[in-house]
Amino acid sequence: MSRKDYYEILSLPRNAQAEEIKKAYRQMALKHHPDRNPGNKEAEERFKEAAEAYSVLIDPEKRNVYDRFGHEGLRGGGFQGFSGFDSSVFEDFEDILGNFFGFSFGNFFGAGERPRGRSRQRGRDLALEVEIGLSEAAAGVEKEIKLNRAEACPACRGSKRKPGISPSACPTCGGKGQVRYQQGFFTVAKTCPRCQGQGEVITEPCETCGGKGHVREKRSLRVRIPAGVEDGSRLRLAGEGEAGEEGMPAGDLYVVTRVRPHPFFERDGNDLSCRIDVSFAQAALGGRVEIPTLVGSEVLKVPPGTQSGETFKLKGQGVPDISGRRKGDLYVTVLVQTPKDLSKEQKTLLAKLAELRGEAVETVDRSVLERFKSLFESSERPH
Ligand SMILES: [Zn+2]
Ligand SMILES: [Zn+2]
Repeated sequence: MSRKDYYEILSLPRNAQAEEIKKAYRQMALKHHPDRNPGNKEAEERFKEAAEAYSVLIDPEKRNVYDRFGHEGLRGGGFQGFSGFDSSVFEDFEDILGNFFGFSFGNFFGAGERPRGRSRQRGRDLALEVEIGLSEAAAGVEKEIKLNRAEACPACRGSKRKPGISPSACPTCGGKGQVRYQQGFFTVAKTCPRCQGQGEVITEPCETCGGKGHVREKRSLRVRIPAGVEDGSRLRLAGEGEAGEEGMPAGDLYVVTRVRPHPFFERDGNDLSCRIDVSFAQAALGGRVEIPTLVGSEVLKVPPGTQSGETFKLKGQGVPDISGRRKGDLYVTVLVQTPKDLSKEQKTLLAKLAELRGEAVETVDRSVLERFKSLFESSERPH
């Protein structure tokens, strides 16, 4: 092939932008397209040249090498001429090229044939949910899960063939995985439609799996769920997904934990919170209250004079971190209950207490209003 300058081939200035390069190539490809010039060797050459020039100039890396070192640079430098041709650069020209390049590139520039067969696939991943309680999430738990998955056929071990029968070369492509046909004066190679490029066909399929290579099995697995998982945590069990195609690894199984909401505790990360009621007397005098925890109970000391809404921390009574390094805390909010349905005697005692504290009960209590007024006046008063 001639070593003409790529810019000359496409009639482009050396500083041409990508859009210009595309436009110039489109014009050239249309003009010299073999379908428009049947049997014209000259046009065929121009058509090839333009494609080669375009594939270099549109690739910034190759273009840079070409600008600095010319054709020689492209021959070395890992580009190895066009054997590493990336036909995807021609995607924009599908309308004019059709599948012309998609099939014929390898032969077009004399590059080695690449097997184009569909590669064998690893198995699919599976995912399922497991519901657990908050205590189980905090302590860790072992659960049995049931799944229905594709496993390699025990008879043919995934080969799809009847055991003992060797694969036969594909009669359509003669085992090459590609078929060739004439398109105009080009020989076009295409992945064999019969064997999908594998080069071999199964004449006697395995009877156990019907030639699928896998069978569906119901399995139950015991899964260790570690302490500290959250709602939505994903555990990966490598290789417990569906079987891969012959010789390929199985997929993975993802277990998603769903943690049921707890009636008493709320969870925020590793910390827990809860609310407890204490009586007016407990809050005023102080006292000890037994608090439930995820593992048993703890005694919370309520100091004298505790106000409703105050929060106390029980250190280390939360959920362990999934790394196991630390534990969250439990925050207990105390709500002071105002007594209702007081008996006559209780009312008398409370009134007595109020009287001793100089609190007005039966008459109009002006203390709230007075406090408000003093705040208002002090802020209005000039400093
Ligand atoms: Zn089988
Ligand atoms: Zn074939």
